[in-house]
Amino acid sequence: MAEDMKRIDPLNAAERSARMSKVKAKGNASTEQLVERALRLSGIDGWVKHPGDIGGNPDFYFPAQRTALFVDGCFWHGCPRCDRRLPRTRRRFWRNKIDDNRARDVKVRRRLRRLGYHAMSIWEHDVKKASWLGRLRAILARGSLDN
Ligand SMILES: [Zn+2]
Repeated sequence: MAEDMKRIDPLNAAERSARMSKVKAKGNASTEQLVERALRLSGIDGWVKHPGDIGGNPDFYFPAQRTALFVDGCFWHGCPRCDRRLPRTRRRFWRNKIDDNRARDVKVRRRLRRLGYHAMSIWEHDVKKASWLGRLRAILARGSLDN
């Protein structure tokens, strides 16, 4: 009963949404910081954060290699491995929202590639692993050859 009341109360929905966006902002910041630190520790430079002029708002961009790097939060980008993190209430709402995000991700990255950019994504759950650094180095090497 209490749960049903919450679900139809617009204030509660708005509150919950505000809370979720705080979670989003906080989660993204820390994940992004981890990536930034890994880049610095690995001596990978020549990047900027959140360039305004590259479509799709990548988290990092390497101008010399025309390479966009996206750090995808597992919740917001619908990571298939971390699906269980969907909230228990309003599942359809979150599912639609996440599906929209995924569709936009695909579109944005396809468009970047069509325009001659390289695009790479890292899942939040992979950020602490070293494997993405090797993948990034390979893409940057390819990007350097293009120029
Ligand atoms: Zn994940």
